[in-house]
Amino acid sequence: METRSLVVPPTPEVTDGIDRLGDEIAELSAHLEAASARLLDLIREFDRRGGWNNGFRSCAHWLAWRVGMDLGAARERVRVARALHSLPGLAGALARGELSYAKVRALTRVATPETEERLLAGGRAGSACQVERIVRGWRRVDRSAETRETAQRHKHRALHVYQDEDGMVVVRGRLTPEEGSVLMQALVAARETLYRRACGADDVSEETSSMEQQQADALALLAETALHHGIDPGAPGERYQVVVHVDAAVLADAAASGQSLLEDGARVSAETSQRLACDATRVVMRHDAEGRTVEVGARTRTIPPALRRALHHRDRGCRFPGCDVRFGQGHHIRHWAAGGPTTLSNLAMLCRRHHRAVHEEGYRVERLPDGALRFRTPHGHPLPDVPAAPAIRDDAAQLLRTQNDAAGLRVNARTLCPIALWEPLDVGWAIDVLHPRAMQTAP
Ligand SMILES: [Zn+2]
Ligand SMILES: [Zn+2]
Repeated sequence: METRSLVVPPTPEVTDGIDRLGDEIAELSAHLEAASARLLDLIREFDRRGGWNNGFRSCAHWLAWRVGMDLGAARERVRVARALHSLPGLAGALARGELSYAKVRALTRVATPETEERLLAGGRAGSACQVERIVRGWRRVDRSAETRETAQRHKHRALHVYQDEDGMVVVRGRLTPEEGSVLMQALVAARETLYRRACGADDVSEETSSMEQQQADALALLAETALHHGIDPGAPGERYQVVVHVDAAVLADAAASGQSLLEDGARVSAETSQRLACDATRVVMRHDAEGRTVEVGARTRTIPPALRRALHHRDRGCRFPGCDVRFGQGHHIRHWAAGGPTTLSNLAMLCRRHHRAVHEEGYRVERLPDGALRFRTPHGHPLPDVPAAPAIRDDAAQLLRTQNDAAGLRVNARTLCPIALWEPLDVGWAIDVLHPRAMQTAP
């Protein structure tokens, strides 16, 4: 009996079906890209109005928490949303579903209002992979892009350490008053150590250093010491030797009369002193009516080392919803000064940012009978670890099409196609042709 292999040539109907499926994928993808442009508009507006700044470290952290986005992806969304504000060409192409988010994301790393149009042409001509390569090549030519990004990050509380062209390391930053206080005290201590060493040395003919030079040496000594002795993130009570003089009544109740002062006389709020005392080394002093110290107690740690290790083991970092900081301070849910016990059940680990949120910004945390923590906003709304997903209609894709159609978009299966679909793109040539600096150097 004759056997035949069963090779069935695709019938026209099957091919049609597959083609239609492919077209549908391409068309819906274009609709999704167009919708992602609207999403970026919303993120930009939310970011601009500081909608995330209610306990979250950044807009990206808020996104990661609220919509379950990977933190890296969330950071990219925020970056792209901000960048598109000054890049209407790229924003428009994404909004019309003509350029994918992947390409726009890559192009916004280097695009400026001046180069946007040329990069947009490159983006339309190439695949996402080729666009990535154009951007990498562009970056090599255009070093200033990175400098601009560095400048943008230089905002508010920050520390920049980078190597200058001549090899020197430049340190620049802004610290909050109490962190700055720690740094300044550490620098003083390091300068004194260095000065003592210099005095003890035989070579006294050495030029006296300026204050700035001494500071630089002191900072280097601090870094060396930190590396030599190991950085122990589990013991903030020892790390932060900020001295706060606070009246006992204020520590127990922020509304009580009394004062809290830093060592240099700067006033801090009652709430700040409660936070600093929450997890610290304390010395109780008693003063007489004239303010003279009459009794000094022994130094005690508010959270003993063994308990801190247990706390760290249990909480594994900051417990504030959406926070991914692995180290933190032990927060007394009911303050020890107000009679709260220093026990695991009355402690929760919080990073600096969120410890401040709870003490000074009106956020509340309580432990429920089942042991879970419940956080609330200053308005009293609960902050769940994972917010409930919004209800989505079954016909979400159709709704998206309808909305895009209503917005006047003409999206079809060809909208997202690169223009030069069937011609290989020479990336090196594209950069030479497109980059303004490359054009200047061309013969
Ligand atoms: Zn606390
Ligand atoms: Zn945190």
